[in-house]
Amino acid sequence: MEASQNDSVDRYLHGATLEETAAAGVYCLVTGKRRDSNVYFVRSGETWVLVDTGWRSRAQLIRSAAETLFGVGARPRAIALTHMHPDHAGSAFELTRMWDVALYALPDELPLPPSGPIIGALAGVERRWMLPSGQDGLTPIDLSVGVPGLPDWQVIPTPGHTPGHLALFREGDRALITGDAVLTVNLNSLGDALSQRHTIGGPPRFATWNWRAATESVAELARLEPRVVAPGHGRPMAGPVLPSALSALAERLNNPPAPGSAASSAGHKLAEEFLKLFDYSRRAR
Ligand SMILES: [Zn+2]
Repeated sequence: MEASQNDSVDRYLHGATLEETAAAGVYCLVTGKRRDSNVYFVRSGETWVLVDTGWRSRAQLIRSAAETLFGVGARPRAIALTHMHPDHAGSAFELTRMWDVALYALPDELPLPPSGPIIGALAGVERRWMLPSGQDGLTPIDLSVGVPGLPDWQVIPTPGHTPGHLALFREGDRALITGDAVLTVNLNSLGDALSQRHTIGGPPRFATWNWRAATESVAELARLEPRVVAPGHGRPMAGPVLPSALSALAERLNNPPAPGSAASSAGHKLAEEFLKLFDYSRRAR
């Protein structure tokens, strides 16, 4: 990506970057600072699809990035959501209106999922600004068809972080878009979250609906033997060690520190407070 191409993107938001090509035709836009959520522009033949939409008010940034990549006036074939949390679905309806395209999610994601305590407490707010006219704008994905515009990508249901969470897998190069099912930052460790260490991690526990299902989904993704992981938070990661790293992660998530142990409760409380301060509280309102 040339510097001049990034200028039009950088103009819009606080440190957002059109970061890198995660895999052939898969472009990652980090929609803000720190652990802010990623969106992906996924090209397939002549068309492209937007995967996730960041927080609310990211629509102009995303459009600008799309035009940087695909030319002025470029519009996707569709928008697909990995899940309906506000850091991924926040600008969905603004974008569907702007581009006049359909919005896709797995049926289990509708109506809005129950979630962890923090996002759960904001559910009312979330619902009002994410779904201004009911859920008419959402089209449930038919698994036998997949996402329109992405014929070479398979939709992988990955319940756990939310009930209808999905990942996208392209067998040709074993590229995997993971949403929050697998991250490349560890939001469950205060030290790792502070240092922004580039490491394979599970979904943020405090905002996860069903931990056991989330763990099983990580194991399921490991079995796909991906060569590229393009996550919802953190930079894309590539390499032959990914399948074993994911298997190890599933093991680790299955055997967390015993609840109530000093390590578990102190670390968890701190991480929760930290993340509340920076991302998941103020930004969501
Ligand atoms: Zn997220």
